[in-house]
Amino acid sequence: MSDNPVVGRFAPSPTGRMHAGNIYAALAAWLVAKSQGGRIVLRIEDLDRERSKAAYINQVQRDFEALGLYWDEGPFFQHDRDEAYCAAFDTLKERGLVYPCYCTRADLHAASAPHRGEKPVYPGTCRHLSTAECASREADGRKPAMRLAVDERDISLVDLVQGPYRQNLERDCGDFLVQRSDGAFAYQLAVVVDDAAQGITSVVRGVDLLCSTPQQIYLQELLGLPHPTYAHVPLLVGEKDRRLSKRDKDAALDELLVRFGTPRAIVGHIAGITGLAASDEPATPEELLKDFSAKKFRARIPDAVQIPWR
Ligand code: GLU
Repeated sequence: MSDNPVVGRFAPSPTGRMHAGNIYAALAAWLVAKSQGGRIVLRIEDLDRERSKAAYINQVQRDFEALGLYWDEGPFFQHDRDEAYCAAFDTLKERGLVYPCYCTRADLHAASAPHRGEKPVYPGTCRHLSTAECASREADGRKPAMRLAVDERDISLVDLVQGPYRQNLERDCGDFLVQRSDGAFAYQLAVVVDDAAQGITSVVRGVDLLCSTPQQIYLQELLGLPHPTYAHVPLLVGEKDRRLSKRDKDAALDELLVRFGTPRAIVGHIAGITGLAASDEPATPEELLKDFSAKKFRARIPDAVQIPWR
């Protein structure tokens, strides 16, 4: 193994059965790490306690195994990690960068227009509340969420699939949540703390998370954590460009098994339509490795943003 081993990850949220899009992202992450002699960490992202179900936590692991997507470390669980998230949160707080936000969903909806078709920009409503204003909101029984103040710098990265990407956090994102009003730490904070603690050097995931990456890079800078490389793979989309979803049970693994017959046939088909392999012949992830190069995989992707599921 080289001095700088590649460490990739699977980071499923156990909120439903895996679908073809999840399998594609996991397969790409596995191939990128393994083709460079690297390792894969499994992290179960069960921050959302209400939507995470024990049955899915179990199922997702069986699904990876059935597909031949083996991991080398973990599973690690986000529900075990509150202490680490708390320490990071305190560091940000000590630097005076965190403030309480009392906005309701309706306030946020009314105040923030989605920007550049990406995500709503928080307009800074609660950024400068006085102590007295905070106290009066709390006297009304409102529990605040906590936001991180951003600065006006541009954050840029070169994504291995999407190419150069830039965001101005103030203009394109606004101050973002690091803790929800129910006390749960937010995804952006947890993912950054976990990627660092688990030694992740290579993040491969769906392009829907590209617009979160500048927030994660900003947090890594504030917390003095290393930056992994990022590769955001296209989304698989159904009819009318609708992304596949767990809720709609689109292309869920049990239905894929009925259609394709074997896990090898599923893996081969997904690899074929996404350009991870030159053909869609049945293949295990291990078999796909022979022909896979992390350097060249972008060139074979049919469209860097979305690929029709068929
Ligand atoms: N848990 C997220 C998901 O299942 C992935 C988050 C990430 O890769 O950073 O969509």
